Amino acid sequence: MNGLNGKMALVTGASRGIGRAIALRLAEEGAVVAVHYGSNHDAAAEVVRQIGQLGGEAFAIGQELGTAAGAAKLFEELDLALERRTGEKYFDILVNNAGVGLPVAFEETTEADFDLVMNTNVKGPFFLIQQALHRLRDGGRIINLSSAVTRISLPGVAAYSMSKGAVNTLTLSLSTQLAPRGITVNALQPGFVATDMNKAMLQDESGYRFGAGYSSFGRWGEPSDIADVAAFLASSDSRWITGQCIDASGGSHL
Ligand code: NAD
Repeated sequence: MNGLNGKMALVTGASRGIGRAIALRLAEEGAVVAVHYGSNHDAAAEVVRQIGQLGGEAFAIGQELGTAAGAAKLFEELDLALERRTGEKYFDILVNNAGVGLPVAFEETTEADFDLVMNTNVKGPFFLIQQALHRLRDGGRIINLSSAVTRISLPGVAAYSMSKGAVNTLTLSLSTQLAPRGITVNALQPGFVATDMNKAMLQDESGYRFGAGYSSFGRWGEPSDIADVAAFLASSDSRWITGQCIDASGGSHL
């Protein structure tokens, strides 16, 4: 497949989990992918190697996100990498995937917990998009990873759910501003997906059953279930969809 030939994509938090699957899928479609990672350089390098093995093109960029300064540093590096490759710093697809879960009871959530989840899941994407705007080509795509917990009440993840609610609002708010440039802005809402974020649940029998029972299909989501929808949102086929929160939760709690 080559629906994204000639496109340049940045996927944050792409060294593992859903971000890794999205990076691989976009590269399979022909996009050149900047595989962003927070701290695990080796894992990101392995994703770059796998993309190369599949005949695609990718490179790794490391940067802690969650602040405006972090976003600026990421773009300093991305600008250099793109200018080396193409002579310019423009790109086409921004996938805001990096995020943290916070499985802590409401009563026990500390201010530090709250700040971590809000900085990573809200402030990070906000300033990344802000600084991406003059680098994104017209006709580009912004895909924000949200969560089905914005429509399903799940006890024990209040701060996390609030952070994804803010991501949905940001998505809606920016969509009309960017429509004149042909840039679409959508949020993708997975349910339970089998990644390191849910390691504890996956390793516990009742947790495993709870996660599987959430979906109408009676199983955990796989990262590729989400990556396939992200590839659609990144493609020209999705040009008439913007400002939407797309549920990709395997029909959880319908
Ligand atoms: P994961 O924990 O496997 O991966 C998250 C990635 O984000 C990691 O590579 C991590 O290093 C990176 N990251 C986290 N904080 C960072 C920071 N401050 N700076 C830079 N990088 C940082 O999680 P995942 O399951 O692959 O989740 C990916 C996205 O999907 C997240 O936004 C998550 O909230 C969302 N999501 C996941 C699920 C699920 O069940 N797994 C469900 C709904 C939504």
